[in-house]
Amino acid sequence: MTVVRFAPSPTGLLHVGNARTALLNWLFAKKLSGKFLLRIDDTDAARSTKAFEEAIYRDLSWLGLTHDGTDRQINRLAIYSTAFYKLQAVGRIYPCFETEAELERQRSLLAARKLPPVYNRASLEPANKAKWEAEGRKPHWRFKLSRSKVSWTDLVRGPVEIDTATMSDPVLVREDGAFLYTLPSVADDIDMAISHVVRGEDHVTNTAAQIEIFEALGGPVPKFAHFPLLVGASGEALSKRLGSLSLEQLRGDGVEPMAVASYLAKIGTSDPVEPRLTLGELATEFDFAKIGRAPAHFVPDELTALNARLLHITPYSAVAGHVPQGEAFWDAIKPNLTKLSDVAEMARLVSGPVTPVIEDAGLAAKAAALLPSEPWDENTWGVWTKAVSAETGAKGRGLFHPLRLALTAQEHGPELKKLLPLIGRERSLARLEGKTA
Ligand code: GLU
Repeated sequence: MTVVRFAPSPTGLLHVGNARTALLNWLFAKKLSGKFLLRIDDTDAARSTKAFEEAIYRDLSWLGLTHDGTDRQINRLAIYSTAFYKLQAVGRIYPCFETEAELERQRSLLAARKLPPVYNRASLEPANKAKWEAEGRKPHWRFKLSRSKVSWTDLVRGPVEIDTATMSDPVLVREDGAFLYTLPSVADDIDMAISHVVRGEDHVTNTAAQIEIFEALGGPVPKFAHFPLLVGASGEALSKRLGSLSLEQLRGDGVEPMAVASYLAKIGTSDPVEPRLTLGELATEFDFAKIGRAPAHFVPDELTALNARLLHITPYSAVAGHVPQGEAFWDAIKPNLTKLSDVAEMARLVSGPVTPVIEDAGLAAKAAALLPSEPWDENTWGVWTKAVSAETGAKGRGLFHPLRLALTAQEHGPELKKLLPLIGRERSLARLEGKTA
């Protein structure tokens, strides 16, 4: 059974980078008829808030990413304690007594010698331990890495090998007894039978330590897929502009959730960036093999353009609840939409009030006189403008531009042959006569 999890920390709003992680997990799970679990990583009590947790649920449901189970880590502390004691029993946990300032000093000494900032395990020296304990220092607890090579076949990156001798033993528990991210994540992945860990490549190094923890706890070790992170248009880290790229912001800006999903599913892959109407289609097309090794560029203007393209292919049935004006109206206006909220302005073009712009009074008067009687359909425009042309001699732009301005007061807009029957004879006549209607 394929089981994946999205594990956000409720310490901020979900941004497009988090959303992509959630989406790729969801698409992969759905493609394989598996399960998508939502795990709230809220062990950091100082930074986690209920409001951010609620925002995560709201944002995921807006995107359509339904989950098959959810839990908060704060409810699961007993599982982490059990895992901790298990690691301790097999000799992989040791107490450390250095203060943050001492550790910092150690790191800068190593940096000065151009050495990697690997913790020197001074707390494992019995003399140090005895001295620091005698001082009454409270320990934090580290996992003792094997200092050997850890390898896995990453579903995006291919074979990966990391020597854990190049890493510091990770701190699992702080002085105050709080669990840091690493152990709860592994304990949950085992307990929740996670088959695949799908996340950004900022976690590649963590993975080596986590694999050692999985193995020390008696595993099983899941499969891993680490995809390149999102960057801005010119390659800058997204974190610089997170505020404007939160899902909440995009929703407020009137971007369609399927535009966001289509964009996030396709950027950085070998597929073209095209709108899809359903998550199911994106799931069918999903494949880790399509994800490239280069960072994916998130360009807000591309998302805006994709949003418009999505609306252009959206059938009336999908928007009927928002567009009471009916299917003929939707088909007339959708090629001109950028956002769904533009519908209100388009509806005004039809039902008014429109204060016409009369560019050529003579032509408008003749056109008014030649308006056919109803019923009107899409052929009415052709019949009518032909008659107006015959009467006035106006052609091309000289004919269509003054008629568009009189009927809609706009330079551009939906096709008039579709709009005219929706405006109807009475309002068309009034507008040609220069009246607001
Ligand atoms: N809470 C972690 C994060 O947001 C989860 C990482 C993971 O998927 O293991 O980075």
